[in-house]
Amino acid sequence: MKFSVASRGDNLSNELCESMKKKLLKADLLLDHEEPDIVITVGGDGTLLEAFHLYAHRLEETAFVGIHTGHLGFYADWVPEEADHLVTHIIKTPYQIVEYPLLEVVIRYRDGRASRRYLALNESTIKSSEGSLVCNVEIKGEVFETFRGDGLCMSTPSGSTAYNKALGGAILHPSLASIQLSEMASINNRVYRTLGSPLVLPQHHTCLLKLLNDVSVQVTIDHFNVPNYEENVDTVQCRVAEEKVRFARFRPFPFWKRVKESFISE
Ligand code: NAP
Repeated sequence: MKFSVASRGDNLSNELCESMKKKLLKADLLLDHEEPDIVITVGGDGTLLEAFHLYAHRLEETAFVGIHTGHLGFYADWVPEEADHLVTHIIKTPYQIVEYPLLEVVIRYRDGRASRRYLALNESTIKSSEGSLVCNVEIKGEVFETFRGDGLCMSTPSGSTAYNKALGGAILHPSLASIQLSEMASINNRVYRTLGSPLVLPQHHTCLLKLLNDVSVQVTIDHFNVPNYEENVDTVQCRVAEEKVRFARFRPFPFWKRVKESFISE
């Protein structure tokens, strides 16, 4: 089996990465950063997000597993003390795969430049970098509402515990192939009106955000900004992606238990 390791870059994560790497190599697994079967991240959910984007072109062949060296993660759900146990599992056990839905984002531009397609593991956001963002929200080709405010967030079920949660969105179980649209400070008065609550769309319902005012916008995909094209964004199209992310599961750790341990009590 071919593996790769990725560290957040702090001393603890680097050391843990090195020691796991040595043990896996000793057991005759192959270190292959180009085409790994399994990617082990050490750090936090942010580290796993970065690894996801590094291997987003080969999701069908790559499984992810994460160790958290800080607080409990949603993707990184192993603790450093379990690292040896995880190594033994990787060496000996044929692991189960758990698949989570992803968000597909297609950005089209006003000046005829080629559209760009991205996959997000957590979410995509669109925000104005100057004044309010005004855009039509179309669902399945019909205008649903005209949004005016700071911005909008489209999240995956597994990303619902991240930025989406801070915006008052619901937490969705990752077995629900869906995307959630939540608002950032919408203006609601007698002139402008939006639903004002998060919306959950099923697979095959497309949500199209069509920009109506001439502002420069910032579009994010997980931890990064879509580069260079702020001025000319015309539409941002979101739907559940055909692709899925695959996590290697060696022991059960139910999603609601992770939610409870992260936000309520251990
Ligand atoms: P960051 O700003 O360094 O960290 C954002 C925090 O979000 C970290 O504590 C990270 O956990 C956590 N996180 C990431 N994915 C999560 C998930 N699916 N469920 C629960 N928590 C999660 O940025 P980053 O580490 O590069 O992560 C980028 C993410 O930050 C974005 O995708 C967005 O969801 C989130 N974000 C949140 C807010 C907010 O809540 N107001 C604002 C901006 C961005 P770890 O510490 O384990 O890495």
